[in-house]
Amino acid sequence: MTDLHQKITGFDLWHLSLPVVSRRDHGIGTVEGACEIVVLRLTAEGGATGWGEAAPWSVFTGSPEAALAALDRYIRPHVVGHRVSDTAAIMARAQTCVAHCTEAKAALETALLDLAGRIANLPVWALLGGKARNTIPLSVSLANPDWDADRALIGRITDDGVGIVKLKAGFADHAFDIMRLEALARDFPDLDLRVDFNQGLDPFDAIRRVRDVAAFKPTFIEQPVRAHHHALMADIRAAIDVPLLADESVFGPEDMVRALREGIADGVSVKIMKSGGLQRARSVAQMAGAAGLSAYGGDMFEAGLAHLAGAHMIAATPEITLGCEFYQAKYYLAEDILESPFPCAGGHVQVPDGPGLGIRPDPARLKHYARNA
Ligand code: MG
Repeated sequence: MTDLHQKITGFDLWHLSLPVVSRRDHGIGTVEGACEIVVLRLTAEGGATGWGEAAPWSVFTGSPEAALAALDRYIRPHVVGHRVSDTAAIMARAQTCVAHCTEAKAALETALLDLAGRIANLPVWALLGGKARNTIPLSVSLANPDWDADRALIGRITDDGVGIVKLKAGFADHAFDIMRLEALARDFPDLDLRVDFNQGLDPFDAIRRVRDVAAFKPTFIEQPVRAHHHALMADIRAAIDVPLLADESVFGPEDMVRALREGIADGVSVKIMKSGGLQRARSVAQMAGAAGLSAYGGDMFEAGLAHLAGAHMIAATPEITLGCEFYQAKYYLAEDILESPFPCAGGHVQVPDGPGLGIRPDPARLKHYARNA
């Protein structure tokens, strides 16, 4: 059946725990052992399926339990029995039927677009208006408290052609950040370096520490202080001559209105898990572009399914010019959930051209890693 007016009849969920290969420290918290995601499968009456992923982080966007409950209890009634063609109406109801839970809404829109694309035989990027790019430069984050392990990771990723790294800073003392910046400048001068504090700096000496980091001339510095410290973000921006990016301060378009009004950043990290879907993520990027700000393709601790959604979104959003950080599926998870590897080559994500997202999860791995099996 190729009719987009057919109804959605199936709504299935998996809560997964995915082992990771190392510890990672950030200004707001640590990831170690495993990260948890929620996978949604929608089935249409003709048998076609669409898949989506919620990738929460409890200290940043919310908890996996909340994402699971949002989908299972509050969003499900607004989806089952409704037509595949009514994506915008379903998303509007999802937006208001449960507060926050943006990762759950991202999973829903991903699954709706994957389903529509499978039925219409079109890639998700085509449903979003067509492509602006075929490949996206890939950044890999350095967040291991063991610097020697991160140096080994740099060797591995540069062998693969990756030319961008993002140093996670502000989780230990200032000297550790400066030592790593000096080592990167000395030993890896050709890398495109970015720095992300993940809100980790104490307001008391944030400007001094950010100035020290800015002296290394990274491409940008991301979110040095807590999300709600808008005035301090604006002060830091005025104190440095390196572009300042907002991440945790801007979840969706509503936050972007305030960010623009208060001049807190030169650019924004755009994530479908923060905005609550692909279309709202595009809105954030378009608002940034209209105001003369830059946009970057950020992510959470995601598996390949969420990376695919982000890749299609960025492919269709010319305003996102600073690359993406969809590295976890290849470099951080012990094993990804996709039936074929998330496509990266030569340091770039390769945007899939197949129907829907282009690649599906492997059902055996969903079963293997499920917490609620
Ligand atoms: Mg960030």
